[in-house]
Amino acid sequence: MRKQSITLLGSTGSIGVSTLDVVARHPDRFDLFALTAHSQWQKLAEQCRQYRPKYAVLRKNDHAEQLRNALQAMGLDTEVLSGIEALELVASASDVDTVVAAIVGAAGLRPTLAAARAGKRILLANKETLVMAGKLFMQTVAEHKAELLPIDSEHNAIFQSLPQPYPGNLQQCGVRRILLTASGGPFRTLPLIDLPKVTPEQACAHPNWVMGKKISVDSATMMNKGLEVIEAHWLFNASPAQIEVVIHPQSVIHSMVDYLDGSVIAQLGNPDMRTPIAHALGFPDRINSGVDPLDLFGRQLTFEQPDNIRFPCLKLAFDALLHGEVMPAVLNAANEVAVAGFLQGQIRYDQIATSIEEVLAQDYHREAESLDALHEVDHQARQYASACLKRMSI
Ligand code: NAD
Ligand code: MG
Repeated sequence: MRKQSITLLGSTGSIGVSTLDVVARHPDRFDLFALTAHSQWQKLAEQCRQYRPKYAVLRKNDHAEQLRNALQAMGLDTEVLSGIEALELVASASDVDTVVAAIVGAAGLRPTLAAARAGKRILLANKETLVMAGKLFMQTVAEHKAELLPIDSEHNAIFQSLPQPYPGNLQQCGVRRILLTASGGPFRTLPLIDLPKVTPEQACAHPNWVMGKKISVDSATMMNKGLEVIEAHWLFNASPAQIEVVIHPQSVIHSMVDYLDGSVIAQLGNPDMRTPIAHALGFPDRINSGVDPLDLFGRQLTFEQPDNIRFPCLKLAFDALLHGEVMPAVLNAANEVAVAGFLQGQIRYDQIATSIEEVLAQDYHREAESLDALHEVDHQARQYASACLKRMSI
């Protein structure tokens, strides 16, 4: 079997580290072409020592210089590059078969699009790519015959619960609804009156998953589920009415597909991202992920309806999707600015939703047809959001 050559975008993050763990279990199957990170050059140096990629990429030149010196001292011949063009290069190089898109936020869009343009197999964690540029990205994937495999756990579960190959139409497969499960995060039962007082540490302490800070805050507000509704819309060609969010605090069922005949097909497993990552890396084969078998004895699986008062961000995301055009990109930009502001102590937890709502209410005229138009809207929304946060500053 020829080995799959992999570029791992965002190798130092939570998904990146889980991906390396799975890859290391299968040296006969996978080779690492490139590892990339934002600025954590020491962690990237350690990963280069362990995994020997051909290339390592950082955002800035001074970090790249530090990494170059460190690798030279270790006697490694990994080539170090820097900048967004370098990310696009390693995502599209002809030697690469598979690109794992695990950068967080809007920063992941350009390299992931480059992978699509180059017709790669893309393992998508970076949901913000689909939220910002769903139409453009899906068109690019189709046009260049790229292959898209979701590793967001819910979308991977839905993928596994749909017939393969999925023809791109739910009705044609006899599907009534997609049931997107959500844990409800750390504040599911906190008295509403206490929500304005919650700290970034509390918001990042997810009850079931260990993740990066941005997605942890998104899980607390349930904006993460909102972004995932938009992600499901694009991945499975599902209308907002065909997607129902179900709170399932134990995170054992990772999502379900409800068929016309009354069958509901679900994917279950321990909450460990190595399962969806291994599924997508090996697809269509099943490979070992290192995840413990699921022990069902003594467990209770429960379900609740989400509450719009507790989780206003979920409704904001549904509204942005219903409105369409550039509104999901605006939602994403406003959310990124608000979450960063909350993590830095600039605004309170409850102001995340109010600031996003204010940014969504501004005027945006453009259609989301080109990457340039999207970047312009993203920039405009970030400016509105920053001004809004300044006014709110605590
Ligand atoms: P993280 O913060 O742990 O890691 C992010 C990675 O992206 C790091 O390697 C970082 O160096 C890199 N990065 C950050 N900003 C960058 C920039 N401007 N340019 C280049 N690289 C940059 O995040 P994570 O939790 O691993 O999440 C990554 C993506 O996967 C997100 O889109 C998230 O929504 C999605 N996701 C994560 C999980 C999870 O369990 N962590 C689950 C499902 C989906
Ligand atoms: Mg998810």
